[in-house]
Amino acid sequence: MTEIINPSLDLFAEIERLKREQNAVILAHYYQEPDIQDIADVLGDSLALARKAQDTDADVIVLCGVHFMAETAKILNPTKKVVVPDMNAGCSLADSCKPEDLAKLKAENPKHVVVSYVNTTAAVKALSDYCCTSSNATAVVASIPKDKPIIFAPDVNLGRYVQEQTGRDMLLWQGTCVVHETFNEKYVLDLLAKNPRSELIAHPECEPPILRHAHFIGSTKKLLDYTKSSAATVFVVATESGILHAMRKGAPEKTFFEAAPSRDKDPTCGCSTCPYMKLNTLEKVFLCLRDLKPEVVLDEQLRLAALRPIERMVAIG
Ligand code: SF4
Repeated sequence: MTEIINPSLDLFAEIERLKREQNAVILAHYYQEPDIQDIADVLGDSLALARKAQDTDADVIVLCGVHFMAETAKILNPTKKVVVPDMNAGCSLADSCKPEDLAKLKAENPKHVVVSYVNTTAAVKALSDYCCTSSNATAVVASIPKDKPIIFAPDVNLGRYVQEQTGRDMLLWQGTCVVHETFNEKYVLDLLAKNPRSELIAHPECEPPILRHAHFIGSTKKLLDYTKSSAATVFVVATESGILHAMRKGAPEKTFFEAAPSRDKDPTCGCSTCPYMKLNTLEKVFLCLRDLKPEVVLDEQLRLAALRPIERMVAIG
């Protein structure tokens, strides 16, 4: 059970103090709640957080995201203590791909190169030739010799999108993200019709009926950059709702709509809110900095097996 924190405590000041005392760095994903984004030393997508985790001089990495991101940080920088606000912050994609099932598919297709999305467990990464994020998935697949067929796991929508971009022979795992698979085409079209000058921008984890209508498709970071550089001033955003905080800060004069009601606006829907990402709270960040737990610990053999595909991911794109 999470400890009850004294409500008079200034958590922002306490976190700053503890960060200095522990020589810690806070790395936060764009899907975290706004307060966590605002106290982060580095705010980024999976690829940026992995690169920062690899380079940091801090003794402690507080990874405010989901478990596979913290595991990736530990794999890349094993001498650091890696802690997470909530150990239960998982991911539907990581859950969909069990290492024993991927091992079986590999054995049935021995000529295939295995590319796994970073949203997987260390055990699945250890079975992979390459990892990728949505930022560099197309570049990673394009870097593989053209005569090699590819197993792409676990996101079927990202896999299909990369397959269309590269024309490669790809066997797609059938995993999905609980957020991106639930956007509704009719809801999105109604929203676009009500805001005639708006543009739909979508993450490639969305299903084809959504991607078909998108003016721009890109990873979380690419969507964010697009909202700053585009001449458009109104956007319907088909990805996790947390990114709207960074979009509004980056282009305060522009208007952003979620492509589905988020959980705080409609508790019966929550289509654009990741239930895993939102397990993390400012209180839990404070507690994990104070107590330096829960800590991500990895078997060294497993870590080494997962390192090579992650290093390839970090180097590409
Ligand atoms: S938004 Fe989707 S892919 Fe990202 S952590 Fe949540 S369930 Fe996983």
